[in-house]
Amino acid sequence: MKRQFHGGVHPHYHKETRDLAIRSIPLPGELAVSLSQHIGAPAKAIVSKGDRVLKYQPIAEPSGFVSAGLHAPVSGTVKGVKPMLHPSGRFIPAILIEPDGLDEAEDTSRHADPGLEKGPEAWKEMVRNAGVVGMGGAAFPTHVKLNPPEDKPIDLVVANGVECEPFLTADHRLMLEDPGPIIGGLRLTMEIVGAGRVIVAIEANKLDAAEKIRSMDLPPGCEVVVLPVRYPQGAEKQLIFALTGRQVPSGGLPMDVGVIVQNVGTLAAIHQAVTMGRPLVERVMTLGGTLPKGPGNYLVAVGTPLSHIIETTGGLQGPAARIISGGPMMGLPLSGFESSMTKGTSGLLVFGARDFRELKPRPCVRCGSCVRACPANLLPYTLGNMVEWDHFHDLEEYHIRDCIECGCCTYICPADRNLVQYIRQGKAELLARSRSK
Ligand code: SF4
Ligand code: SF4
Repeated sequence: MKRQFHGGVHPHYHKETRDLAIRSIPLPGELAVSLSQHIGAPAKAIVSKGDRVLKYQPIAEPSGFVSAGLHAPVSGTVKGVKPMLHPSGRFIPAILIEPDGLDEAEDTSRHADPGLEKGPEAWKEMVRNAGVVGMGGAAFPTHVKLNPPEDKPIDLVVANGVECEPFLTADHRLMLEDPGPIIGGLRLTMEIVGAGRVIVAIEANKLDAAEKIRSMDLPPGCEVVVLPVRYPQGAEKQLIFALTGRQVPSGGLPMDVGVIVQNVGTLAAIHQAVTMGRPLVERVMTLGGTLPKGPGNYLVAVGTPLSHIIETTGGLQGPAARIISGGPMMGLPLSGFESSMTKGTSGLLVFGARDFRELKPRPCVRCGSCVRACPANLLPYTLGNMVEWDHFHDLEEYHIRDCIECGCCTYICPADRNLVQYIRQGKAELLARSRSK
């Protein structure tokens, strides 16, 4: 059953890198592996200055249930653990590693289950030990998603290959070039959560990827569903509604309606963790926008400085005016290239001054466009006004927490009101108030 979710927009997609095969980036002189790679508690370093590490060796352990460990992406020497600029704009401790060029790896086969004999409990532990997190952007620790409570049975696993953000093509290339581990991860996820049904969801601008997946040996009952191109089709709640008609309740999670959604890159990482015992130490990301001289899809080691990605791909063809980690709609604006790749970095986009129109906010003309565009059925202009006028006490009543920060309201507003920025500010204020109680 295919449905159109409410709202959404149709931005110019600019998937110019879609035909560029995945290439590797050479290693930098130093990697900075941030202890904060995901939603949840940062990891705790277990190495110190002067230690020699092998590739895949654990270097930080999870500091709680909603946390994921880290592993060395290269063999080399730990140069220290110190605060480094993170894509979030904050200074967060990172483990600095100088590669030794030997690429000596720890034998991970002893953690592996290549014949898939050990069963779901062991597989969950392997995924946890491999530090796998969601690779679609939010970077939620995957072992937590694979552990739904008993009173929330899962009947459907969705492989999210939608990639609805403009400019990003990393998932597209992964599905085309290496679909085997994605399907392997899908089978494992089905068995771990006991689901009988699977859907691989792909937007209609990636028909070649849909064909490729269809040509694979798929699990019984697996459907490949091609969805119309509409942002934010890849957001979990919108995707579930479009595929099944099930509505995730306000404040709820996909597991509340019996569904688990996993990004295709995450599924491949689950498969590698179980069959090879291999931790998540590198990922495919898109370098795009108008300025990079070497746009494309690259396999990059976690901890690689963004400046190194720019330099080794040929540099920029002009001064950067806007730099974004992730997609242009939901990504993080960066002040420069000083921070490093994390497990959640799906893209690095660089634009010049002429590519962007500065917003010149004017009073709301009450056209209602933002309400029609909001996929979460909110009243963005009301939420924006409340924050602007410091009426924070009413924000909860207007379900501000259901905002997925997709940016559709800002994109569509003829009065240039940066509504998503007001809403982020409102959420941050509510969080600060609840913490101070
Ligand atoms: S209010 Fe939130 S969910 Fe609705 S369009 Fe704006 S950013 Fe998206
Ligand atoms: S789209 Fe902009 S102008 Fe129109 S109602 Fe919303 S905030 Fe007001």
